[in-house]
Amino acid sequence: MNHPYIRNDLIRIAKGILFKPEMAYAIRMGRKIQTRRLKDRYRVGDILYVKEPWTLFNGDSSITRSAWTTVNSSSPLFVPKWKNSLFMPKKYADQFIRVTKIKIEHIQDITCEDIHEEGVDCPSHPGFLCENCSFLRAAWIGLWKSINKEKGTTYQDNPVVYAYTFEVLKYT
Ligand SMILES: [Zn+2]
Repeated sequence: MNHPYIRNDLIRIAKGILFKPEMAYAIRMGRKIQTRRLKDRYRVGDILYVKEPWTLFNGDSSITRSAWTTVNSSSPLFVPKWKNSLFMPKKYADQFIRVTKIKIEHIQDITCEDIHEEGVDCPSHPGFLCENCSFLRAAWIGLWKSINKEKGTTYQDNPVVYAYTFEVLKYT
């Protein structure tokens, strides 16, 4: 199947974006197409590579991306020896996304629909797109809290955020 993008071209132009491992996995599974950030860092049309846990097989020189992809998608999280997402070399990038929309809002403005698009599944209604659900919202708040702990950045502080919607790019 032909895809419009060539991996080497994507690697040349992409900027990195860091996700928590489970959120990088949610993107891989097609469950996540939004992310909220405190800083205005990206523009519509920007192509980004997902920084996620990574590892090498048989040493750097003999790694193949297909091996990396296969292992990464079959046993996604927390197998021993995954290396820190933060230091994932760009040349191993496997997931590329393109920013399609930016909303500027306060973090508490997030709707349940947005929370689902952030890749959060409701702990009380798993698999359902629940609306006005306090359990779903609590799960989202927990996720935000795990990343943003400093004064002025918490859900209760209700900071302005940049809500990016993105599409996952297919490539050859
Ligand atoms: Zn729910």
